[in-house]
Amino acid sequence: MPFIEELQSYFSDSQLLLNDADRKSFEVDWRGRYQGSSLAVVFPKSVVEVSWLVQCCRRHQIAIVPQSGNTSLCGGSVPIPTIPSIIVNLSKLNAIRKIDLDNNTLTVESGVILETLSTLARQHNRLFPLSMASEGSAQIGGIISTNAGGTAVIRYGNMRSHILGLEVVLANGEIWNGLSELRKNNTGYDLKQLFIGAEGTLGIITAATLTLSPLPKSREVYWLSTDTLKNAVNTLTFLKERVGEQISAFEILSSECLRLVKKHFPQQLVPENSQHNWAILVELEHFNEQPEPNALFIDCIEQDLIKDAIYAINEQQQQQFWAIREHIPLAEKSEGFSIKHDISLPISALPEFVEKAVARVNALVPGVINVCFGHLGDGNLHFNFTNPSSLDKEVFLSLTPSINTLIYDLVAEYQGSLSAEHGIGQLKIKDLQKYKDPVELALMKTIKVALDPTNIMNPGKLLTSHSS
Ligand SMILES: Cc1cc2nc3c(=O)[nH]c(=O)nc-3n(C[C@H](O)[C@H](O)[C@H](O)COP(=O)(O)OP(=O)(O)OC[C@H]3O[C@@H](n4cnc5c(N)ncnc54)[C@H](O)[C@@H]3O)c2cc1C
Repeated sequence: MPFIEELQSYFSDSQLLLNDADRKSFEVDWRGRYQGSSLAVVFPKSVVEVSWLVQCCRRHQIAIVPQSGNTSLCGGSVPIPTIPSIIVNLSKLNAIRKIDLDNNTLTVESGVILETLSTLARQHNRLFPLSMASEGSAQIGGIISTNAGGTAVIRYGNMRSHILGLEVVLANGEIWNGLSELRKNNTGYDLKQLFIGAEGTLGIITAATLTLSPLPKSREVYWLSTDTLKNAVNTLTFLKERVGEQISAFEILSSECLRLVKKHFPQQLVPENSQHNWAILVELEHFNEQPEPNALFIDCIEQDLIKDAIYAINEQQQQQFWAIREHIPLAEKSEGFSIKHDISLPISALPEFVEKAVARVNALVPGVINVCFGHLGDGNLHFNFTNPSSLDKEVFLSLTPSINTLIYDLVAEYQGSLSAEHGIGQLKIKDLQKYKDPVELALMKTIKVALDPTNIMNPGKLLTSHSS
């Protein structure tokens, strides 16, 4: 039976998108940078349906692109136009399978949206700590497959830290039930780790058992300002020495980010103290009642680490501060094209790195605008550039490879990473080949061939092909 007819014989009409107009929004990535094409978008509702679908694709040699919220920032969740593919959209596989409050675990299917999961945890007086601006769309399967980070990594770690077990449909259609609820289990290779951050290239994640944390009783949010990144790093060190793990977020925002937010989202109330080069958003969590404004920050001012500090007086103001941070990617998108980097370095190296990197890119593109923000608390910067008004956008765009080389060469000098939390997708395949340790790269390819010998799982992402 032809492929599409076989799909139609198994799935209901509501689970299949076959005509061009219906498929369109699923075939383009969030940034609008990668336009793919697919034979069909399929919405399985159970792990058995996913398994059947994989076997069907394997028989017909049709590539499979797993897709969750489609918020990938590197083109991971849309097909490569030249490869006959289907999109397997997991959003209808979204049941909550189990909550175990004594074990502090939750087992959910992969299509559950992060925000839904966080709300559910709170309803049970627990915290699921992963938090990021895309949480209203991103789903558990996509978040696991990118090992997403977000704003609370400094205290709770990235997605990998919250996973005890996975259920995965392998590239041959077999279902691996690895939904362990154990915190200790030394019985050989920890296979779930292979699928975390694999960007859908090894199998389709259909469910996960996740750990929950105690729900803090209160939190403080501060908006600080400082003139140098070095002072921001020193402030972080100072706070860590004083309050250690109470710090649940330490985010920096350059003045250029704030300018963009004010320009595109004037309804966002950017605090008055933001005249300095950097704003810092700090969140502290507590297990006691609402504390008073913290004297810590007066010490920071007295030691000349920061210029001033604003304490969010209520939850509304806390949300207002966070909203500014969350609007930065949206403001960048509204501004138009930018050359983006999602990098991590040792925290201590960041000030020197930023100074050198900006100088080198400026030497290539005089007047280039640096848009820098991110999770300083875990050494992860979103280090982006937009064109000066004197330079045409297309000309600027054509300089992307040269700018990337400048940045990634420097990242490599500091033993940093060219992808801290967004993954590789289609965007950074060549860069990965260039900068990743060759032994590690060869091992990754060996694993890919072993688990997906016919290369049907998200081909053209993360790794090039089996032979290259
Ligand atoms: C405004 C905005 C803010 C963001 N902020 C952050 C941030 O702070 N931190 C961060 O880490 N990321 C951030 N991101 C990036 C993005 O949200 C994350 O990468 C997220 O984890 C992707 O989830 P998703 O459900 O959208 O996955 P998709 O985009 O649908 O998929 C991502 C990758 O996973 C694969 N995949 C999807 N589902 C499955 C599955 N069930 N099984 C196997 N493979 C699968 C896809 O093929 C693709 O390669 C942001 C994105 C946006 C748009």
